[in-house]
Amino acid sequence: MSLVAAALILAANAPLTVEVAGVKNARGKVRIDVCPQAKFLDDGCPWHLSVPAKAGTTTLEIPDLPPGDYAIQAFHDANGNDEMDRGLFGIPKEGFGFSRDAKIVFSPPKWKDAFFTHHAEQQKQVAALTKKKKEAELALGSIGGGGAAGGFVSVNSPLAQPAPRNSDGSWPKESCTVDDPTTTGCITPRTLHAMQQAKAAGFKHYVACFRHQDSGEHPKGRACDFAAHSSGFLNEAATGADKTYGNNLAAYFIKNADRLGVMYVIWYRQIWMPGTGWKAYSPQGGPSVVHTNHVHLSML
Ligand SMILES: [Zn+2]
Repeated sequence: MSLVAAALILAANAPLTVEVAGVKNARGKVRIDVCPQAKFLDDGCPWHLSVPAKAGTTTLEIPDLPPGDYAIQAFHDANGNDEMDRGLFGIPKEGFGFSRDAKIVFSPPKWKDAFFTHHAEQQKQVAALTKKKKEAELALGSIGGGGAAGGFVSVNSPLAQPAPRNSDGSWPKESCTVDDPTTTGCITPRTLHAMQQAKAAGFKHYVACFRHQDSGEHPKGRACDFAAHSSGFLNEAATGADKTYGNNLAAYFIKNADRLGVMYVIWYRQIWMPGTGWKAYSPQGGPSVVHTNHVHLSML
């Protein structure tokens, strides 16, 4: 009996102050969701709050949070239209961030990188909103509708020749050392290998790998875009035989992910990563953005 009583006393709720840093402007609202592990990355967490945005840092307070482990999801709804109702991460438009500044570069953050323990005493947490829209879109797009998507897989995909590995089975560290045959830049030996294997397997539509840009693997020579249309890159979603070509090519990279060293693949509003399989990918934009006109391949 006395143990139970002690537990009840320790379980007293306490205020949690959240400072959301990196708020771009004072338009709309800043919203936080304070989530236990079971609700992490969901739309609705048991504790949430919206206040008018303040440029720079916006401070919010949850007055009585029970002790426990939580992660904070912060979101700047600059046009104040409460779009979060359709899923906090469904439509990435503006800044968002997580407690402990958990990294969100190419996939959603992990619980272990974002959670903190709330004790029965007042405390403060900081969540910084992301600055790089592109990376945010990629990370959020991979959350998509939340559930696993249908995916592109085929038992009939041909097998690739494995890329060279270290004697302990790990991938050798590589940099942009090989002439990129598709552009004037460079690519890594593993990227070249994957591209040549795909070609040898019959995927001969136009390909472009190296590209100058701020983020992602193209400027590192570790990514290629494979046009779905037989005539090259077109600003329209592939249909018919061109779409089948993309389906088959995406399936080929998935089947050979381990042999080639694939980091992720994006095709037709879905993204494949080794840890998660195919998931919905839903940034906003044209065929190049939602990847309905090309298969994107990123390499380890
Ligand atoms: Zn790409």
